[in-house]
Amino acid sequence: MSTAFWKKKQLNEMTNEQWESLCDGCARCCLIKLEDEETGKLHFTNVACSQLDIETCRCTDYAQRTHLVPACIEITVDQVKTLTGLPATCAYAKLANGESLESWHPLLSGGQASVIRAGVSIHSIAVSERHVHPEQLEEHVVDWIG
Ligand code: SF4
Ligand code: SF4
Repeated sequence: MSTAFWKKKQLNEMTNEQWESLCDGCARCCLIKLEDEETGKLHFTNVACSQLDIETCRCTDYAQRTHLVPACIEITVDQVKTLTGLPATCAYAKLANGESLESWHPLLSGGQASVIRAGVSIHSIAVSERHVHPEQLEEHVVDWIG
């Protein structure tokens, strides 16, 4: 794989492998969001989807994710610019907006540790939905999502 394919190709020109490699594994998109009924604004919580492995920040059933979790965001080239549940740091959102990958992105740093060091990963910060009562979600709203 070319190390700089993301600079040479448009999102719709990438292979599936290249597309998937753009995910930095931050898992911020796997945090539960609460919608303000009046404004429609989404508020991130520090509560992660029950399907997420908090330690690895990976989905435990990626292939079936949208069947298991209807609210799961399936990122596509056509929709990436209009998706509201992605953090500003998300590589898909950045490239779709003509921005560059961050220096801590695994494709540039060579590993996942840089994402944690940059404070972007939910690793060791989030709690699983399995351990939070739905009525307590409002207490978990956070403002550290960039
Ligand atoms: S927010 Fe973007 S980069 Fe982070 S895990 Fe989700 S899809 Fe991947
Ligand atoms: S189903 Fe998987 S990919 Fe979707 S939000 Fe949950 S953990 Fe994330």
